[in-house]
Amino acid sequence: MENPIKKLLAGKVASKIKDALPLDAGDAALNGLIGTLIANPGRTEQVFGTGEIFLIKAALYLTGVRLEPSAYVGVGTIHKELIGVYQFDLNLGKTDDRPPLPSELALPHGLHVPIVVNDASPFSLLREKGTLYLKVSGMKLFPVEYEKRPLFYDKKTSDGIEMWKLAQHRLGDELMVTYNTYCHTLKGGNQCRFCGLNQNEPIHRRKNSYFIQTPEQIAEIAEAAYGEGIAKRLEITGGILPKRAEVDFIIAVGNAVKARLGTKTVPGGHALLAAPNDLSQIDRLKEAGWEYVFFNLEVWNPHFFAGLCPGKEAIVGREHWLKALDYAVEVFGKGNVRSILIAGLEPLNSYLEGAEYLTEHGIFADPSPWMPMPGSLMEGQSTPSAGWHINLLVQTLDLWERHGWDLRDVAKDGWLSFNDLAAMRLQVRRAKEDNPALDLEKDLRYQLSVKGNLDF
Ligand code: SF4
Repeated sequence: MENPIKKLLAGKVASKIKDALPLDAGDAALNGLIGTLIANPGRTEQVFGTGEIFLIKAALYLTGVRLEPSAYVGVGTIHKELIGVYQFDLNLGKTDDRPPLPSELALPHGLHVPIVVNDASPFSLLREKGTLYLKVSGMKLFPVEYEKRPLFYDKKTSDGIEMWKLAQHRLGDELMVTYNTYCHTLKGGNQCRFCGLNQNEPIHRRKNSYFIQTPEQIAEIAEAAYGEGIAKRLEITGGILPKRAEVDFIIAVGNAVKARLGTKTVPGGHALLAAPNDLSQIDRLKEAGWEYVFFNLEVWNPHFFAGLCPGKEAIVGREHWLKALDYAVEVFGKGNVRSILIAGLEPLNSYLEGAEYLTEHGIFADPSPWMPMPGSLMEGQSTPSAGWHINLLVQTLDLWERHGWDLRDVAKDGWLSFNDLAAMRLQVRRAKEDNPALDLEKDLRYQLSVKGNLDF
């Protein structure tokens, strides 16, 4: 029997998602139970497995979702509104003439997906009698919900600025601080080809400063967000500034947050910045309380790096970048230094070569699937298929396991697709231990998270 979700999604989006959906008859249970589900949405968790929800998440991310008018109710009051993660705002330019958009969507089995608005998507959201539903081509799939609005979004700093304008909550437990929306690589057209940071207008500007916030404002917001229990991590990021002014700013923020919270470190605090030119600043980042750092290479192949990140190459240089990563491992320890590699910008073998090198050096290479950003120089281009991405993520999980990394750490660390796949791999292993007769070949979770296979 044909999978009804796949059938319903056929048409103009089929080419985008066709390999994000199960192809076989192994989902017969799904077919039979969709009717039951519509009549009895409380049963979602029983009838849709983690594998199916993961595929729907992939399809939602790739094709976006349409919001019916009822889906806006309560956003900005009860439900958290989308404020914008400036480096990767997939909704840039779509928000001007609408009420506030919701932020992430909670799916069954604890999976989450950012809301990417697409008025032509076959997926839609509507609220009925207080319950928010995900629909596909007019058919209700199951109830979903937005994130609760954090209490600190209603608070102001002691100097009178609304906190939501200065820092945002995302990924379930992260306070995100973007210190500016300007990257000096823009000068001479040297910005990274995939980055849309410079296209964003910050919601708040400080006079005569490169920075949106002061360290003290960030510390106050951290106190409110951690105090409310909704933040366990703090990320700070932004563009490269003249004379690398951002590095000292990040150091000042770490010190201010530590002092305000009365802690020895910034709990879950991570600074995401271009590798410092002055290696002693890495020691100072550690002293300032940052628990881990990201120096994102983005692409591994040196020629691609120079071509896609010409500003990083000119200001820091790949050779120094690698040296700084190794030095950071000495300072922060193995596993506490990270470097995002964007999946889809270079050939698979080159990506995996980079992931292997970084892992061998004790650096956690975060695989981040490339989505062409509005306003970036690569806007309008296409990312590889979902099947390509899942295969890459699974090969990355294999690599980490070969090097002794504990997937439990990966699984608990967020809502990204590699976190989901790590969790699914652990789940299916437990299921096999509990039931040795389980036929893994027929288990969608196994096919996705262990084999990286969408063609079965
Ligand atoms: S260094 Fe590249 S990725 Fe980072 S903010 Fe600047 S342009 Fe964007």
